[in-house]
Amino acid sequence: MHEAAIAQSIIDIVLRRLASIRSDNAKAQRVSVILGEFRNVEPESLAFAFENMREFYPELTECRLDMETISAQAKCQKAQHLYHPEPTSFYLCPICESGIGCLIRGEEMDVVNVVIEIPKAEEEKRHARIG
Ligand SMILES: [Zn+2]
Repeated sequence: MHEAAIAQSIIDIVLRRLASIRSDNAKAQRVSVILGEFRNVEPESLAFAFENMREFYPELTECRLDMETISAQAKCQKAQHLYHPEPTSFYLCPICESGIGCLIRGEEMDVVNVVIEIPKAEEEKRHARIG
């Protein structure tokens, strides 16, 4: 269920971006998100939720969701070793076995890009108005 909430927040961001363009016919083509490994987001579930929910928004029906997963990286407490924290080793540093000092990567959840298409006729009208 938490994927549905994430899909909704992605849609909200795309809708805000569309609103800022102030064109009645602008349509979102693609939205790109990065997901940290520690967010525990199931990409298939998120894609499924997104595809179902975008149907409620005419300006989003063709919008594709691109996801990039970022693997986690931590610095250990004792010696600042860089390592990939894993649940099977209780997230401990594989070199000195101390715990996570800080998590450098792995908690991201950001919309990094939204591609919006404005119909050509309208774009030309706009240019004409400016020129
Ligand atoms: Zn260490």
